[in-house]
Amino acid sequence: MPLSEFDIIAHFFRDGFPRREDVVQGVGDDGAVLQPSPGQQLVLACDTLVAGQHFFPDTDPAALAHKALAVNLSDLAAMGAEPAWFTLALTLPEADSDWLQHFSTGLATLAREFHIALVGGDTTRGPLSLTLTVVGFVPAGEALTRAGARDGDAIVVTGPLGGAALGLAVLQRHHEAGAAEREALLACLHRPRPRVAAGLALRGHVHAAIDISDGLCGDLGHILEASGVGASLDVDAIPGHPALAQVLPRRETRYDYILAGGEDYELCLCVAPAEVETVCALLRKAECSPAVIGHIEAQAGLRLRDAAGKCVTVPTPSFQHFR
Ligand code: ADP
Ligand code: MG
Repeated sequence: MPLSEFDIIAHFFRDGFPRREDVVQGVGDDGAVLQPSPGQQLVLACDTLVAGQHFFPDTDPAALAHKALAVNLSDLAAMGAEPAWFTLALTLPEADSDWLQHFSTGLATLAREFHIALVGGDTTRGPLSLTLTVVGFVPAGEALTRAGARDGDAIVVTGPLGGAALGLAVLQRHHEAGAAEREALLACLHRPRPRVAAGLALRGHVHAAIDISDGLCGDLGHILEASGVGASLDVDAIPGHPALAQVLPRRETRYDYILAGGEDYELCLCVAPAEVETVCALLRKAECSPAVIGHIEAQAGLRLRDAAGKCVTVPTPSFQHFR
């Protein structure tokens, strides 16, 4: 017998997810009833993944589930929020129980790791797409935002960039990679690690934060605009994923991946000079590999130079919907 919408919910999305005391009513009623702690503000973020647009329809469902939750957790990380609850709106072309089992297992595995409870959702038929809404907590007034960068701040990234974008290029056969590099790059693309622990540790220590979902230059550009400042980057100080040097031996050919490659989900931070050492120590404790890559300036715009002082052109954004 084919699975009904209610069978799908009962079999794949009711059990196996973390339980939390602050969930008064989870999956199963007309709405979820949730009890935030006093003094906490809620941070809410929502991201949709559409088949053919954000992923290939034949992507491993467990990896897809991981990515859908990871990109949303990354938004909470960038706000310094502690993950608590999420909803899942799932649109499926058909009710394939094998696919759903892998999807549900992948989702529950990452949900357990970050102790985030699935509290509701919607299940519909149509072209494959997933929309997750995540909710996290921050103590009132302590959310990290894009708006506080100041002239003289150091710009810090939490880890190497370009791996996910090169993973996609390898998958599309634009580049050849050895087996080990290919595996490492595809892991960047399919299994990003949201920097949640870093985001929590950074509360009170940074002026501005954003997660790098669309590429460093574009995302840093959002901080610059929100903060009314500009920046200079030392392109050769930006850490690239180690496999980049293997696949792209010429340094200049790596710049586009490092500067404009999206989906790495590292954080980009603006930090007062006096706090840089503390921030880097906190980040290393949170299993990051921080690097100082430039600084904020009063003059608007983004300026790029290589180690020899030569100007590097700001790449055009890798991808924008409706452009
Ligand atoms: P309603 O018709 O009242 O909107 P539904 O029949 O759509 O309720 O959903 C029943 C319950 O199952 C609700 O609690 C809803 O939040 C939950 N739910 C539906 N789809 C999902 C899903 N994909 N993941 C998690 N919970 C879901
Ligand atoms: Mg109802």
